[in-house]
Amino acid sequence: MNLPLVGLKDERSTIRIGDTTIGAREVVLMAGPCAVESGEQMRAAAQGVKAAGGKILRGGVYKPRTSPYSFQGLGEEGIDYLREAAAEYGLLTVTEVMDERSLDVLVDKVDILQVGSRNMQNFHLLKLLGEVRNPVILKRGLAATVEEWLAAAEYILAGGNAQVILCERGIRTFEPSTRNTLDLSAVSLVKVLSHLPVIVDPSHAAGRVDIIPALAKAAVAVGADGLLIEVHPHPEEAQSDGMQSLTPEQFARLAAELRPIAQSVGRSMAHSPKA
Ligand code: PEP
Ligand code: MN
Repeated sequence: MNLPLVGLKDERSTIRIGDTTIGAREVVLMAGPCAVESGEQMRAAAQGVKAAGGKILRGGVYKPRTSPYSFQGLGEEGIDYLREAAAEYGLLTVTEVMDERSLDVLVDKVDILQVGSRNMQNFHLLKLLGEVRNPVILKRGLAATVEEWLAAAEYILAGGNAQVILCERGIRTFEPSTRNTLDLSAVSLVKVLSHLPVIVDPSHAAGRVDIIPALAKAAVAVGADGLLIEVHPHPEEAQSDGMQSLTPEQFARLAAELRPIAQSVGRSMAHSPKA
């Protein structure tokens, strides 16, 4: 397939937002709950993300749920909780954009826009994202090939927005004991096929807390430029994805364990601000 804009170039792309750069030497940690639920929840999450050396606070306000009866997100109310918590702890923000209407609402309010797996081939949305200036995290579709994923990124670049971060989050396979199958080959592969930064979301790949640390470490070892991890102050009370959400304490432990792995592959990771 003809992918002139996302295809490998002499120099790898880096994406700079404030004083955080994605795709450079540092492996950037992005974390927070699946869904924004309250101001208090977001403050506790932000505190945990910051304490572990994280740079970007996540939290969905428009949630693409499999069932129409599941929690659909707080919508606009949630954006304030995400922004206020991030501002209090000096973090950047990322949230999922679902369609034209949510893009209008989010474009001036969050730093990074996330395209979820279910929308990876929403070509109308991809074209609109070509017209904005926010960096975009483009998650790989549930059953998308690497070529289809890169072609989706090409849409955004062709529209005029070069700030795309690819995110591997597991693909659907025959294996039911994990929610998805984390495709680490794809992470290595896109690094030789494209100049775009690549991050890994081990949370949606695993669907269970116990193997997330191991997957996160493997992702860093294989060259991921960042990690997107679900962290909830009270996973047992989460409105969505509680079974795959780390507590802030588990996240802090993981961040500390990731540092030597990052260093062993020539990368760095931010220290906890208190350390
Ligand atoms: C999410 O990040 O909460 C999410 C819905 O992810 P994905 O699109 O990868 O399923
Ligand atoms: Mn989730």
